[in-house]
Amino acid sequence: TTPCLPEPRAVSTNQALFERAQLSIPGGVNSPVRAFRAVGGTPRFIARAQGPYMWDAEGQRYIDYIGSWGPMILGHGHPAVLDAVIRAAHEGFSFGAPTEREVELAEEIIRNVPSIEQVRLVSSGTEAGMTAIRLARGATGRSKIIKFEGCYHGHADALLVKAGSGLATFGHPTSAGVPPEVVQHTLVLEFNNIEQIEETFKAQGGDIACVMIEPIAGNMNFVRASVPFVKRIRELCDQYGALFVFDEVMTGFRVALGSAQSVYARDIPGFQPDISVFGKVIGGGMPLAAFGSSRKIMQNLAPLGGVYQAGTLSGNPVATACGLATLKEITKPGFYEALGARTQALVSGLTEAAKAAGVPFVGDSEGGMFGFFFTNHAGEGLPQNYNVVMATQKERFNRFFHGMLDRGVYLAPALYEAGFVSASHTEADIAATVAAAADVLRIEA
Ligand code: PLP
Repeated sequence: TTPCLPEPRAVSTNQALFERAQLSIPGGVNSPVRAFRAVGGTPRFIARAQGPYMWDAEGQRYIDYIGSWGPMILGHGHPAVLDAVIRAAHEGFSFGAPTEREVELAEEIIRNVPSIEQVRLVSSGTEAGMTAIRLARGATGRSKIIKFEGCYHGHADALLVKAGSGLATFGHPTSAGVPPEVVQHTLVLEFNNIEQIEETFKAQGGDIACVMIEPIAGNMNFVRASVPFVKRIRELCDQYGALFVFDEVMTGFRVALGSAQSVYARDIPGFQPDISVFGKVIGGGMPLAAFGSSRKIMQNLAPLGGVYQAGTLSGNPVATACGLATLKEITKPGFYEALGARTQALVSGLTEAAKAAGVPFVGDSEGGMFGFFFTNHAGEGLPQNYNVVMATQKERFNRFFHGMLDRGVYLAPALYEAGFVSASHTEADIAATVAAAADVLRIEA
């Protein structure tokens, strides 16, 4: 017998569930983008998932390119991961005391990311990013932080800051409920704008605790920080004594085993950020995230130093089992080569389909992460910043999203989100996706 299978439920429609959900949950969802507001229509209520597929409440199957927004790098229900989670659950859900498994997970992260000597485990990317900022401020004794337009670092108050108008401005809150004073130390700059960050450091360098970046920004679809940009930030941080924080919640163990920082180190010899933030993949689908740095910087954390951070469920034994089992699979030789090739095959297939249909389109990928844009003109390159992303063809994206959904392909329901391929996606899944895209784009053309 398999005690973990859920009881069969009566079939309900997505629409009926959505209506019911809206009575008890604001907007019917527990995280806003799930509500399909950007693209319109009814969110799919997912009943179960296996490998690269998810089935909704109506029994419709989808090829899943969201992968829970990044964590499911092995696909759903990987047998080794499932087994590890079930075993761990039998041992106990949560102890609020140290366990060997969390040490193992910390060691595994450190082994694969050379910039990190110590990590602390937490439960969400938001928590990890928020604490990374506190750590940077505590370690430098400075207050100001720089973030970039279009980068999302979780929903901590200081990081929920709207973009300025292309100039270095003091942040103003994006969210109601964040007092202006709380974000007065957050400077928002344009992604990939070297001149602007140089000027900002020149004017305020002595007050800047850290620069936080999504190195490959997946919260404005897929926009790479250019190599010269990352290199210059590294130099400026060194020159002015600020810390460089890589938010690798999305890119960590997703774009490469060594994460995005290893991708930049290919072009910038010896490159390392000062603090790294992880989430998603390291938890394999369970609530787990981490931040890490040198031993020296991490010694600022309580109980050793004065920077406070804590969590009832931090390093949770079931979550760490899930993360460890996931890491065990992805550290196998050849894993990223295969994942990267499959993801590239998807992006080139989509690009070819768009070209055949005469629809202006650009796509990009790194490891198992990808993005694509419907541009305004043929031959237009990949967007370099948020404003350019905003100027791409949103309505066309929305039509494409629904066309694909109708054909059983589940893409992120907003133009501002990256996509993810898992190791369980087969060549046939990619081919079916490309065929669906060709069909949708033919109509579009
Ligand atoms: N940082 C980045 C780059 C993210 O993409 C996200 C979530 O999507 C976060 C931080 C926040 O992580 P979480 O949703 O686990 O709080």
